Amino acid sequence: MVEVRVDPEICAASGMCKLLVPAVFDQSEEDGTVRLTDPVPPAALEAKVRTAALRCPAGAIAVHEMETDAS
Ligand code: SF4
Repeated sequence: MVEVRVDPEICAASGMCKLLVPAVFDQSEEDGTVRLTDPVPPAALEAKVRTAALRCPAGAIAVHEMETDAS
């Protein structure tokens, strides 16, 4: 399970993340900067979210592993 964080302050408003994972990322209607729709996406979207973080031209997306009790 992962937690996604974004930083609209450094976002370049490219829209790449929303294009890749529209279920998780959105853009502000005012300035196009990133907004998070789902900070804890389902497992099926984790790979796409990681790809979005890697491709973000501003480095504004961080993906953190969450601690689970399953270990
Ligand atoms: S890919 Fe990065 S720079 Fe582009 S909208 Fe998303 S967070 Fe902003």
